[in-house]
Amino acid sequence: MMLIVLILFGTFVYVSMWQGLSTSIDDSIKFSTSQAIAAVNIENGQINFSDSLPESSTADLREKGFTIRILSTNGNILQSVGPFHNLIIDHTSIQNALNRISSFNTIKINDLESIRVYTAPIIENQTIIGIIQVMQSLATLHETLDRLLLMMLISIPLLLLITAFSGYILAARALSPIDQITKTAQRISTEDLSARLNLHNSDDEIGRLANTFDSMLSRLEEGFSRERQFTSDASHELRTPLAAMQAILSVTRGKQRSPEEYETAMDDLMEETSRLRALTEDLLYIARGDSRPITSYEKVDLSNLLNDMSESLRPLAESNGLLLKQNIQNKLYIFGNSDALIRAFVNLIDNAIKYTEHGEIIVDAKKNEKNIIEISISDTGRGIDQEHLTHIFDRFYRVDESRTTQGFGLGLSIVQEIVKAHKGTITVTSQIQKGSTFHIFFTGDDKEK
Ligand code: ADP
Repeated sequence: MMLIVLILFGTFVYVSMWQGLSTSIDDSIKFSTSQAIAAVNIENGQINFSDSLPESSTADLREKGFTIRILSTNGNILQSVGPFHNLIIDHTSIQNALNRISSFNTIKINDLESIRVYTAPIIENQTIIGIIQVMQSLATLHETLDRLLLMMLISIPLLLLITAFSGYILAARALSPIDQITKTAQRISTEDLSARLNLHNSDDEIGRLANTFDSMLSRLEEGFSRERQFTSDASHELRTPLAAMQAILSVTRGKQRSPEEYETAMDDLMEETSRLRALTEDLLYIARGDSRPITSYEKVDLSNLLNDMSESLRPLAESNGLLLKQNIQNKLYIFGNSDALIRAFVNLIDNAIKYTEHGEIIVDAKKNEKNIIEISISDTGRGIDQEHLTHIFDRFYRVDESRTTQGFGLGLSIVQEIVKAHKGTITVTSQIQKGSTFHIFFTGDDKEK
């Protein structure tokens, strides 16, 4: 491309230089001709044949290298001064001059030199009394053009070399991060996602691409490790009831047992299987939720749903010596999935019952003027320490002391997912030994249907 551009540019410069110089030579010959005509010795309307061109009046022109020739109307040379006075006479231009047309022509005297000749009629009182020819060598013009050509022949390859070299260096510099990206991408596998590009210094397209790539890797790594953690936690949780069942079975099988002992063993086994069932259900729910988000949404009467749930959980609360109160506004509607919502609220109220020794649980629901429905479930239980508060929504996270109570640490993470699927938010406030309150915010559904 560069070669083509340089050749086109060079040709343009050469041609315009040639044309410009030629025109200026022609102009100067024309001007000198008018000077020479003024110097021609004319007497009584005729050219003085013996001394048609007085030397004194043409000295200046001769000094500039012009050759001047005076011819009679029949083409004979009357007088000529200057270096090319013997130059052959071109008859066409003489004929043109006799027809009152001034003309230029170029005559080659050898391989190296050409002469530019201007032929014009000398007119006195409307009649042609002679012909004048003024000529100049084109040697300087050719010399200048040759020098220009030489300069171009040297500078064009030089420029090409410089361009190619610097282009190569620039391209290599600009593309080297891409090379790095490729190499890093090749190093990455699902086992090791820790590789990063770390091109933080450059704020150009490549730098931004590298940053995006790095943050995508971080997200992937986080996702993968969460997934791995989940699998290992899940297997761990599954192992505990299975090991317990195995122990019960092997102890019972150890020797002959009484029917009462078999019954106790069966009861223990039943307890463990129900634990296993609950855990598998939670796991299944999470696995499904991850791959298949809730799809069927409808208008849900939240007031009814919360009232019904409180009623059905009241016996459980009372059997634990707790009061369950409700303070639920009427006609609270949201756009949602009632099965998922029931699951979320059951989890929260169930937790409140599990983690409260005495006192009360209050289910409260109201809507503010901005159409935000706030549901709070508060208890007077053991509370959650600040350091655990940020983690309780993580999968399998359980506050240590609560290991004694039943549960797998999946409940709150399921609640959070359900709330998020309903475009809501969940927060928690808690004071140790005083109680905890879970707040859920949803946007109300005002539509008639
Ligand atoms: P779990 O199956 O252990 O109840 P969750 O995800 O429901 O799992 O809860 C996570 C942890 O948060 C629990 O182990 C418990 O320590 C704490 N927690 C949840 N709800 C309450 C509550 N109302 N009061 C005190 N602690 C709570």
